[in-house]
Amino acid sequence: DAIDERVTISAYSESKDATRKFNLNILNDLAESLNQQRGLYLVFQPKVILSTRKIIGAEALLRWQHPTLGEIQPDAFIPIAESTSLIKLLTEFVIARSVLEAKRLRQQGINIPISINISANNFAEPDFAEKLDYLVRDGGLQPQDIEIECLETQRILESTEALACVKALRQMGYAIALDDFGTGYSNLNYLRNIPADLIKIDRSLIENLKSDNDSRIIVESLIKMLHMLNYAVLAEGVEDRETLKYLEQYQCDIIQGYFYSPPMTLERLMSLIAAEKNGMLASYPDGD
Ligand code: C2E
Ligand code: MG
Ligand code: MG
Ligand code: MG
Repeated sequence: DAIDERVTISAYSESKDATRKFNLNILNDLAESLNQQRGLYLVFQPKVILSTRKIIGAEALLRWQHPTLGEIQPDAFIPIAESTSLIKLLTEFVIARSVLEAKRLRQQGINIPISINISANNFAEPDFAEKLDYLVRDGGLQPQDIEIECLETQRILESTEALACVKALRQMGYAIALDDFGTGYSNLNYLRNIPADLIKIDRSLIENLKSDNDSRIIVESLIKMLHMLNYAVLAEGVEDRETLKYLEQYQCDIIQGYFYSPPMTLERLMSLIAAEKNGMLASYPDGD
């Protein structure tokens, strides 16, 4: 557990390398935060149907309030945790907390699924699918209450165990999304080898829609192709109306991004959905 992790980490702390030392400190502090269940929490970013503007889900995103350094973004600590077995505990925390929060939504009569980010290393753990399913059912939820976002799809495909795990989860009834599509070495052919329901087009492609005609051609064609292959398509990182208009034109199904809403606390998500139910949100925040 986290205590063992700390012992392992301190065995390496002789290193003179500054980055390495920083990483080790981060790992120690993260293990500590996990142990004490303090400072780590989830925020939720709505997923919105483009044509109806209804919230159909929310993605859980991890946040860490470091005891002395303040807020640290996931991009700054998750990759470090990934290089050790601490990622197992971290992901367990995220799943358990997501299940709790999804249950709180249910108690308010809100039945949207919560999406959880899972990386290749997690999928490759023995019995990961069974563990996740246990946490979900033990928490009184069903597979349809949780969606799984696959990070590092390329690495998942390179691991027999990880790929088998994604397939098992889908068989159990979990919706599978492929995150960050269009980044890295994504080979289009890989879509044929991994089962998925939703493709999330990465922000790096979406952010150029306004400024660059080639990007428009790429995104429009991608959406067409993905629809022909029967996937639902989500665009991430939608920040303004102009970008939204292009996505509307290309018949993108779902959007996520600061334009509609940044990640927020569960309480704020609940009031946003309550407002929506009362018909107070028939438009986007800028009034259109
Ligand atoms: P991701 O899964 O692709 O999540 C989207 C990231 O884009 C989030 O950053 C989100 O806050 C940010 N974002 C959303 N809309 C906009 C927008 O309109 N403009 C801009 N500029 N950014 C936007 P965040 O929360 O910092 O997370 C970064 C990455 O860290 C995530 O990328 C995901 O790969 C990873 N991550 C976050 N939480 C978890 C977790 O619980 N477990 C794991 N394994 N990874 C996580
Ligand atoms: Mg994600
Ligand atoms: Mg993403
Ligand atoms: Mg991304």
